[in-house]
Amino acid sequence: MSKNRALNIPDRSESYWLDSVEFPTFPSLEENCETDVVIIGGGISGIMTAYLLAIEGYRVTLVEARRLLSGTTGFTTAKLTSQHGLIYDYLLQNEGSKTANSYYEANEAAISYVKNLITEKGIDCDFSEEKAYVFAEDEKQQEKVKEEAEAYRKIGIDGGFIDNIPLDVHNLGAVVMNHQAQFNPVKFLKPLVEEIVAKGGRVFENTRVDDIESNKRPVAVTREGRRVEGDYLVVCSHYPFYDKEGFYYARLSPNRSYSIAAETDKEYPGGMYVNAGQPAHSLRSIQLEGKELVLAGGYGHYVGHKQNTEESYNQLYQFVNQTFGVKKVPYRWSAQDPATLDQIPYIGRYSTEMENVFVATGYRK
Ligand SMILES: Cc1cc2nc3c(=O)[nH]c(=O)nc-3n(C[C@H](O)[C@H](O)[C@H](O)COP(=O)(O)OP(=O)(O)OC[C@H]3O[C@@H](n4cnc5c(N)ncnc54)[C@H](O)[C@@H]3O)c2cc1C
Repeated sequence: MSKNRALNIPDRSESYWLDSVEFPTFPSLEENCETDVVIIGGGISGIMTAYLLAIEGYRVTLVEARRLLSGTTGFTTAKLTSQHGLIYDYLLQNEGSKTANSYYEANEAAISYVKNLITEKGIDCDFSEEKAYVFAEDEKQQEKVKEEAEAYRKIGIDGGFIDNIPLDVHNLGAVVMNHQAQFNPVKFLKPLVEEIVAKGGRVFENTRVDDIESNKRPVAVTREGRRVEGDYLVVCSHYPFYDKEGFYYARLSPNRSYSIAAETDKEYPGGMYVNAGQPAHSLRSIQLEGKELVLAGGYGHYVGHKQNTEESYNQLYQFVNQTFGVKKVPYRWSAQDPATLDQIPYIGRYSTEMENVFVATGYRK
């Protein structure tokens, strides 16, 4: 019997999000076509880009190599938060107050946008407002957490240092951010995909783009040699695959981490948590068949730098078991996400040489 069976963790990786709702399917691209905007990649970046353009009246064509949401979006943690670990003190020190303020404001604007869209369209996607905490486990981390709280004060972030957290784990206080949220991204994106199609947008699955021709009107060239030409092209493929320009392979550092969803003895106290040190322990709750489960993530590593990935699941299991007592683990999965050199996502023109080609990547989870 494998170790994981002994711990009652499923043998197979399966995403709770993808299992929670049936998503529409789309045909593969069989002929050349022309559009206003070509979007490569059907994760949250590609779908939101297509949605925002479609509702403004642009003709969009979304091309996905596998199934929509089969990339990192289908295997995320889905905290909707401007608190990304400890980042604001770093931004103030290294990028200055203008950038730190913009970073916060852009993230808050995104959360408000999602919240308003959910309300306006009545999207049932398990959205709930939550506090987000980064907690310290030793004195060194406490110092960093206090520096982060001071950065919150300087930027005007709603939150600050607190001496203890609602979670029953050893901690020396935390920095809390108020009015953050969590949701189910697959449930959220489904009606948006339906609206893209209703507005005349075209979606193709099982259609991999292998090359980009960066003419005045850029062209996505698929593996089968079909061409999709547009006024603009947006690369939302998570890791930018086109490497003749931009050199993203040298500027992104991908990190893989592990998640389990567990039914537990102890009740979850609410809130979204991550520790300030390593290995990371990220926590939130999810709903399954009327029960509240703990969704825990962590034990990440640089992609390809760990052979025994089962060990990461086991360590995660031990942490959740110690904290809450595990009854059952219905889901486990892993995913990777790239970080940029300055920790700020790359969103904008693909390179100075590609005027009408754009990219969105490097969200650092
Ligand atoms: C473990 C983990 C936890 C996370 N937790 C959070 C969180 O709590 N909150 C948060 O905001 N973010 C979180 N993130 C980050 C977030 O989930 C990702 O940054 C986000 O989902 C990336 O979305 P995307 O659309 O850019 O990429 P993806 O979802 O990966 O979508 C890219 C799509 O492009 C397709 N594709 C790739 N190459 C091609 C090609 N050549 N042609 C056509 N299609 C192609 C892929 O098949 C894929 O479907 C987390 C990430 C990880 C790994």
